[in-house]
Amino acid sequence: MSKEVIIIGGGIIGLCSAYYLQKEGHQVTIIDKSDISYGASFVNAGYITPSHFIPLAAPGMITKGIKWMMDSSSPFYVKPRLNIDFLKWFWAFKKSATKSKVEKAIPVIRDINLLGRDLFEELKASNDFDFHYERKGLLMCYQTDKAGEEEWKVGQLGIEQGLNVDHISKEDVKKLEPNIDLNIKGAVYYDCDAHTTPSEFMNGMVNYLISNGVNFHLNEEVEDISLIDYKVAEVRTNKQLIKADEVVLAAGSWSPLLTKKLGVKIPIEAGKGYSINLNRHTDIQMPSILVEAKVAVTPMNGFTRFAGTMEFGGINHDIEQTE
Ligand SMILES: Cc1cc2nc3c(=O)[nH]c(=O)nc-3n(C[C@H](O)[C@H](O)[C@H](O)COP(=O)(O)OP(=O)(O)OC[C@H]3O[C@@H](n4cnc5c(N)ncnc54)[C@H](O)[C@@H]3O)c2cc1C
Repeated sequence: MSKEVIIIGGGIIGLCSAYYLQKEGHQVTIIDKSDISYGASFVNAGYITPSHFIPLAAPGMITKGIKWMMDSSSPFYVKPRLNIDFLKWFWAFKKSATKSKVEKAIPVIRDINLLGRDLFEELKASNDFDFHYERKGLLMCYQTDKAGEEEWKVGQLGIEQGLNVDHISKEDVKKLEPNIDLNIKGAVYYDCDAHTTPSEFMNGMVNYLISNGVNFHLNEEVEDISLIDYKVAEVRTNKQLIKADEVVLAAGSWSPLLTKKLGVKIPIEAGKGYSINLNRHTDIQMPSILVEAKVAVTPMNGFTRFAGTMEFGGINHDIEQTE
């Protein structure tokens, strides 16, 4: 039966939800407070990563987080804050960062990541819209033996999880990156990974959805969701009231602000990242993470993107300036 579905948020999750719901025959409306031309779903590193199967909440992360707390230029920066929701999230993060919880989470994250990659390949093969997608793998490049050993331990865990992972020398990396001077010792190579150019994917998807009857309400903010008999009935925006049979909440970091109004508390904290594009030709062929610097390098369609830092500092658009 066809339903009126409202999707709150037009990031990658909202758009992809709309894509599958529209194909199932539902009437879909996407509401976004922005004009959906920027934000995390546009500026990310474009990695589709079965390689990233270890949750962030892992043993050792709390110690690293505390060490890096005072340094806003560190790759994992937690801004100290006396905010009750943040403190509750931090406590939940700490409780999750145990060996047994990580062991349970790994196969689940692996399966979600592999399914995500397979769906990208299905979308590409469908020719519904065109976007840049390549399956070249990901290099975890390291400069020190210590980092190499740690990275290879993760790689071996990946092999145990059925992924195709290799420990390769600088000379073998050179074969993959023949035109680049390499200041590395070696790399762990995840053959299973892929990458895309996010803005191409997002713009292509928006155009496909518009031409297939999905409604967009842009620059319109959802302020409340009302329930009748525990079922979503209406969405109130800053412009109007809209009736809905079903609502998909895909508001990214802002999601807890809306669930709070329904009395549902979900422990999500915004993680801010930074990226810059280099538009001149770089000759870089391979997506690579520079392990020590925690910088992601992605050869996108027509430019190279450098991305880094995970910063937990609340929801804002402040930019931490460093020397
Ligand atoms: C620098 C950087 C690099 C990254 N690299 C990678 C990577 O390589 N691979 C990877 O998988 N992930 C990466 N990520 C993470 C990834 O980009 C995000 O997880 C993803 O884009 C989140 O998508 P989303 O749809 O959930 O949220 P968003 O893209 O944030 O979309 C949420 C939307 O909801 C809208 N919204 C919020 N509240 C309301 C409201 N009340 N009413 C109406 N609209 C609302 C917002 O305007 C926004 O458009 C990276 C992120 C960054 C910043």
